[in-house]
Amino acid sequence: MPHPETWLKALPAGLYCEPGGFFIDPVRAVDRAVVTHAHSDHARPGHAAVLASAETLALMRARLGEAGAGRVQQTLAWGEAVTVGEVRVWLAPAGHVLGSAQVAMEYRGSRAVVSGDYKRVADPTCAGFEPVACDVFVTEATFALPVFVHPPPDQEIRRLLDSVSLFPDRTHVVGCYSLGKCQRLIALLRQGGWDGPIWLHGALASMCEVYRACGVELGALHLAAAASKGELKGAIVLAPPGSIADRWSRRMEDPVVALASGWMRVRQRAKSRGVELPLVISDHGRKR
Ligand SMILES: [Zn+2]
Repeated sequence: MPHPETWLKALPAGLYCEPGGFFIDPVRAVDRAVVTHAHSDHARPGHAAVLASAETLALMRARLGEAGAGRVQQTLAWGEAVTVGEVRVWLAPAGHVLGSAQVAMEYRGSRAVVSGDYKRVADPTCAGFEPVACDVFVTEATFALPVFVHPPPDQEIRRLLDSVSLFPDRTHVVGCYSLGKCQRLIALLRQGGWDGPIWLHGALASMCEVYRACGVELGALHLAAAASKGELKGAIVLAPPGSIADRWSRRMEDPVVALASGWMRVRQRAKSRGVELPLVISDHGRKR
């Protein structure tokens, strides 16, 4: 039984499954790619063939265009297996963002799982992490340092909603990444009892549309650019992290600047970015 070390290779283009003839999340365009999820550091444009979950491919098409998402696109449902070259391949949910998958591979009796990014806490916007027994587990380790103990997300959402009731005349501008964090924040706000409109910076709208098309309930969303100044009093506005402290948010009514990120655990990061209300919400699991 060949150990996965002998058939999984770290090449310049990325992790390569030799008997299958495919790369996993390659960093440059290749002939055959299996893509764990649609974040830009995992899903690059220009592959000839892409195998991924249907949701990941939908997000890739929205981000990269039809051509950029792969000339040949093949979707796999959770647990549905295909044979690629000499390797049996299937996907299991990674719980990270919509469509995010772990790639399970079996070759001559040995099994490897490549996690991509994952988290194990419940997330209403994607299928939950499913452990897969394997001989070798290849994992990302974004927040592996002991300092990164993340509080429960509903507690962070409560801090945001408390601040909104404390400052009913101010606009809360919350920085969040457009794919995953944004939609999770919206779902968490809904779970926390916020049923009013949520306003979006235009850069966040297209990913929300894909989530909706994939059946994720987000409630009433409006473009902040279309709001009158009065309408944003006491409102919650989501924007990309790069926009929260610039001219875009200074148009708002005495904004409270918040940022939702696992990195907000590091106070200095919040301070240096002018964040008044850091929200420690991570889409990466804590590895032990
Ligand atoms: Zn990711």
